[in-house]
Amino acid sequence: MTATTMKGTIFEGKNQIALKGKPVPKPGYNEALVRVALTTICGTDLHIVRGEYPVRIGLTIGHEPVGVIEEVGPGVTGYARGTRVLIGAITPCGQCEFCLSGKWAQCGGRLGGWKFGNTIDGCQAEYVLVPNAQANLAIIPDTLSNEDVVLLADIASTGLSATETANVQLGDAVAVFAQGPIGLCATAGARLKGASTVIGIDSDRTRLKMAKAMGADEVIDYSTKDPVHEVMRITNGRGVDVAIEALGLQQTFESCLRVLRPGGKLSSLGVYSGKLEVPVDAFGAGIADIQILSTLCPGGKERMRRLMELVASRRLNLRPLLTHDFSLDQIHRAYEVFGNRSDGVLKVAIRP
Ligand SMILES: [Zn+2]
Ligand SMILES: [Zn+2]
Repeated sequence: MTATTMKGTIFEGKNQIALKGKPVPKPGYNEALVRVALTTICGTDLHIVRGEYPVRIGLTIGHEPVGVIEEVGPGVTGYARGTRVLIGAITPCGQCEFCLSGKWAQCGGRLGGWKFGNTIDGCQAEYVLVPNAQANLAIIPDTLSNEDVVLLADIASTGLSATETANVQLGDAVAVFAQGPIGLCATAGARLKGASTVIGIDSDRTRLKMAKAMGADEVIDYSTKDPVHEVMRITNGRGVDVAIEALGLQQTFESCLRVLRPGGKLSSLGVYSGKLEVPVDAFGAGIADIQILSTLCPGGKERMRRLMELVASRRLNLRPLLTHDFSLDQIHRAYEVFGNRSDGVLKVAIRP
């Protein structure tokens, strides 16, 4: 018997979240109810809680679910109760014009693929209702644990996508500005895509150390050295083929432009606020053949399947990024640790 009420992390206004009860939803057409076994907190959740990204009051937040199918609604075929599934942070319908042209994250319109904890109840809860279930329930192979795959839902899919969007070539030099969880995955992606030199930039020692473990050949601590100067030195004055922005700040965006070779690509992952400016000197007056590209986390079950294959074949290991463990009841503490970046935290496991 499925319970009738469940606990969830509810947004109650700026800097206010509460663990509260809600009715367990009943899956409708092409929906599935999943009992959440493991989830995490994303940097975007911090923006939401701090009131920097608007969501409605009363919404359950969280968008990185791993769990077990409790019930499927009408129209969902090929799935049984009790099956372990990973669901991407982005849940495309798989049928609209944007989905069918490969832009799953932009399902139905700009940023429309991001629904969990944005426009519908998310997964920092005991149960989550999955929309467009047929396109989004990715079955987890028995060889992989929940911990092996939970970070694929968002940060790995996002981080790796920066290198895919920029189409990193064999032998490229790639600089990744910021080595938070997403930047670290971009670093791993650059290595997987065959870059010859991967440069990770951050000021946090733990993160720079992790950057090396994830595939960076060189790391730059921007608190002690000018990162633009250092990237140019490492590349013998040539600049990088691809610069990845993984923070969402004017300064890192600008630094990316300044380290690009002519014709290079700025692959942007950051979520910016306010205004983003392009200094014309860094942009070669607009005629240096520089491309500025952006990506929102690709989702959908096929994306999740491919990412799980990468983990299963040992090309990618995200376990070291999962540094802390909390129960759902400890959600306030988890937000505190993750939000303050205390204790060398990278990602936190939340277990409902
Ligand atoms: Zn996220
Ligand atoms: Zn769609």
